[in-house]
Amino acid sequence: MASTTESSNSPSPADSVLLEPNLGEELVKIFVGAKRKKFVVHKKLLCESADYFKGAFTRDFEEARKGEMYMPEDSPGAFSLYIDWLYRGSVPTSNTEAHVKHLYELYFLANKLCLIELEDKTMDTIQDMAKKYDLKDELIRPSLVVAVIQNTPKKTEGLRRFCIYQMAWHEYENSNSNGDNNDEDQHPYLMRKDAKAVFRICNQTNDCRFLKSFLNRLIWLVADDIDSDNLERLDPRIRDEEEDAVDRCYFHCHENFVNCRPSKDQADDVFIPDEENRITPTSQESE
Ligand SMILES: [Zn+2]
Repeated sequence: MASTTESSNSPSPADSVLLEPNLGEELVKIFVGAKRKKFVVHKKLLCESADYFKGAFTRDFEEARKGEMYMPEDSPGAFSLYIDWLYRGSVPTSNTEAHVKHLYELYFLANKLCLIELEDKTMDTIQDMAKKYDLKDELIRPSLVVAVIQNTPKKTEGLRRFCIYQMAWHEYENSNSNGDNNDEDQHPYLMRKDAKAVFRICNQTNDCRFLKSFLNRLIWLVADDIDSDNLERLDPRIRDEEEDAVDRCYFHCHENFVNCRPSKDQADDVFIPDEENRITPTSQESE
């Protein structure tokens, strides 16, 4: 089956970069990954995107003299998406599992570059793909979760929180949906392969905090099961755009005062007349 890639239409601050008429003529080469995949990028655009690049290309480093930089530990797939973000101002979705992996790696890159806005936008794109294609296992492959633990801060937020919630939801849903636990005296939770996988991952990465957060979330889901008649709302793949901002931002890392919603001033359904034809209360009063 052919893969497709589509760009999100949500506006982003990077759109303003696209409107910048002068990207400059100077190009730099970035070699990414163990096989040194080459990317050629406008130096000005790259340096304005993150202090990491600005530092490397504007000080008296070898990178600045040669106009080249090596990023052997990063993913070429993720860097390709980063270029998309720089030039198009969006994080594209696709219909392949490889793309999911590249989005996770883009998240790690954004974290390394301290670009919270790109982290949050990438998180939204992962959620959008998860919802559209009903992704489950694909979001929490052990290798992916190990990478999340190793490449994100220990604070339980953003993609780390999303993985914890997704693993607990998956475990809970599986335990709840089919009766492969015949012994009703035994608690069905933690008997399944998903929970065991979490134990193995946390053991491998020596991250007890991840394990505690997973168990807390699982207990919370089990307890909520007794109270709630709408468990759909606990599915971490569904982002509530309409209700209060807490739901929309649950896996975001920005500060509380940041409004991550697209600006309503720029909405397509609002017609903007020429300045001289705008009627304001003040101009009406003066007539
Ligand atoms: Zn947000």
